[in-house]
Parts: sequence; structure tokens; C-alpha cells
Amino acid sequence: MTPIPTTRAACEALDAADPLRAHRDAFDLPAGVVYLDGNSLGPLPRRTPEVLRDVVSRQWGHDLIRSWNSHGWIDAPRRIGDAIGALLGAAPGQVAAADSTSVNLFKALSAALAMRPGRTVVVSEAENFPTDLYIAEGVIAQLGGRHTLVRATPDTLDAALGPDTAAVVLTHVNYRTGAMYDMPAVTARVHAAGALMIWDLAHSAGAVPVALDEAGVDLAVGCGYKYLNGGPGAPAFIYVAERHQAAFRQPLSGWLGHAAPFAFEPAYRPADGIGRALCGTPAILAMSALEVGVSTVAAAGMEALRAKSMALTSLFAAEASARCPEVQLASPSDPAQRGSQICLRHPEAYAVMQALIDRGVIGDFRTPDVLRFGFAPLYVRHVDAWDAVSRLREVLDTEAWRRPEYQARKAVT
Ligand SMILES: *Cc1c(COP(=O)(O)O)cnc(C)c1O
Repeated sequence: MTPIPTTRAACEALDAADPLRAHRDAFDLPAGVVYLDGNSLGPLPRRTPEVLRDVVSRQWGHDLIRSWNSHGWIDAPRRIGDAIGALLGAAPGQVAAADSTSVNLFKALSAALAMRPGRTVVVSEAENFPTDLYIAEGVIAQLGGRHTLVRATPDTLDAALGPDTAAVVLTHVNYRTGAMYDMPAVTARVHAAGALMIWDLAHSAGAVPVALDEAGVDLAVGCGYKYLNGGPGAPAFIYVAERHQAAFRQPLSGWLGHAAPFAFEPAYRPADGIGRALCGTPAILAMSALEVGVSTVAAAGMEALRAKSMALTSLFAAEASARCPEVQLASPSDPAQRGSQICLRHPEAYAVMQALIDRGVIGDFRTPDVLRFGFAPLYVRHVDAWDAVSRLREVLDTEAWRRPEYQARKAVT
């Protein structure tokens, strides 16, 4: 890796030589904003309004219902799923773009438990993103409460695995700390216990290289609106390894997951392949925006993105530690063990982030005391990381965070 720059001018020089430099132009970023929240909502690709205008005016407005065939609307979940799969090391035919991450996890976990009859334990992590735990609770309740959810920690995970373990649900990159699991190693240990591995890739897809097929992952889900830049509430995705597809039966047995939707048969027969992970009619406007978002990542390539991401997070972590001793690094210090984000702890983290946002540095806050900064290398520059630390220094020096308007909590943090 290139040495970490120690001046703003050195950051500018790195940006000038950055092989990914041109990709920033694919986004419509507001002037004067340092956007470090692409891990929560990816920015608007320049092409998205144009594509949506075409889908709305020409495809919907003029071609009307014919577009399901003529514009490939009906194939969108599989087509976009394959494009996402290419970023995740998944061969075609194993990923579908559909629904939300939460709904896809409901399908995946329900199917996994049906594939491990007789086993009654679901293992997750207490610090997992709450929706994963809530959905596991919902699946268990739906199945009559015969299963137990064990909330392990990374250290107690192995001890939690046993002959009763049916499935393990983990988020690959922790949303609050950025800590990243060793996917192949954990998957292998879960398999050794005879259980199925379900990965949540919300903070991995488009952010870090993932090799689902190579790691032998069973099932996975993830988000379209974070590093995949699909737009607010974009459809999510679900991966079902080919070897499991014949046995994969999910409870949301809607007509578009049927083997022959337009035969209108009276009984459900699941489609062959990944199609059985689908439920109802895809939201084509949202799908169209997602397709553009995914293409922005595909154009850069995951390896180049990862190299720059590690450089950016290392720069930010080093500068924040050097210039802002009031904050503590909450992410792993080794870039190989973290995703594309840096989290800093400060007792007044909420107000500090509000003050930063007011100064044009947009990150987010995660309870109770975490300042979270996402470094999406497609459009974030080294100078952005540098300037973000400078703004943070200002906020701490001026104690601007004490202002009442920064203390009042908004609905979305
Ligand atoms: C953002 C996120 C989700 C979001 O789920 P939705 O159903 O799309 O709201 C799920 N899991 C993790 C780990 C996340 O970070």
C-alpha cells in the first residue's frame, strides 16, 4: 500500500493519480459536501434520472403493459440479480433482486430451518443489526416457537455451534463498528457443525470483495440502497447457492415465484432455480434505478475499490487519531479486518455529527456513542477524508456540538 499521506497537498496528489478518479463523475454530488454516508444511502448516479425518465415516459407511458416483455421488465429480478452476483463472486442464476433485506432474510431463514428439520437453534450475534434479530424472532414465532435464538458474540460463536444448530445468521461487516468476519473461515466452521450459513451483506455488497461461491456460502441477503447506489428503499437481493435451490422452499409462495405464473394454476409449484425466491410483482421504477446503481460499481471493479477503500479508511483513522485525541477508534485498526467504514466513539456523538453535517460533512450516528463515516471509494477522495477530520477538529475546538439545535434528536439518525 502507498504510505498514508500526512498533508492535504499529499492527499490532492493521490487524488490526481487515483485510477478510480473518473468514477466520481458518474454521480451527482452537491457542491461543498463531503459525503461519508454512502453506507446508508448511496448518492444519485447521474444516469438515474435519465433512465427513470425513459422508463416512466416511454416504457410505461407509451409502451404500456407491452413493456413487461419488450423492455424485459419481467426479467429484471434475475437480470439485476446476476449483475449483483457478479460483484459477490456468485455465478449467474443464484441471486435475485427483490423485496427488502428484512423480507429476504425471512425467506432465507425460513427455508434454512425447513432444510434442517430436527435442529432447533438459530445462532446470531447480539450486536447484529436489529432487523436480523427481529426477523429471526418472527420466523421462530411463525414456526410455533420450537426454535431458540442464541445471541452470541464473535468470541462465543464457536461455543454456540452444536448438533442442534440449524442456521447461523451473521452480518459480514458490522454496521456499528465496521468489523468484518472472515467469511470462508466462519462458513467452514458452521458447516462443520452441520448448520447452514446465512450472511447479511448489507455493508459488503459493493464495498468489499466477497466470494460467495468459493466460500461455500449457503444463503445470503443484502441491500440495494447502500454501496450499490440503488436509491432510497431500493430493492434488496437474495442469494441461494445452486446446490440448495431444489430444496429451497420459502413461505412467501407468491405467483411470481411459481414455475408457470401465467398458467394460473390453482396450486403453488415453485419455479426451478433462483426464481422460487421471488414473491410478487417487481417495483420496476425502483428496479430501474437499482440497475443503474449496480452498474456504477461494476464499472470500477471490486479489487480496485477495495484497495482505495483501505487507503481512505487508513488515512481517516490515522488523521482522526493524530488530530482528535478526544475520539476513540471503534473500528478494527487493521484495514484487512474492517469494511469500508470508520467508526469513532465520542460521548456527545449525536450532537457532534449534527454539527459536522451542518459544516458539510455528512456521516451518521449510531446509538449510543458512535460517529460513523462510510468511505465509498467510487466517489470519496483522499481530500474528503482529510477535510472531514479538519471539520471534526473545528467542531471539537469550538464545542459547537453544545448548541441546542444539534442536541435535539431527529427521527432518522
Ligand atoms: C441496512 C441494513 C438492513 C436493512 O434492511 P431493510 O429491510 O432493507 O430495511 C439489514 N441488515 C443490515 C445489516 C443492515 O445494515
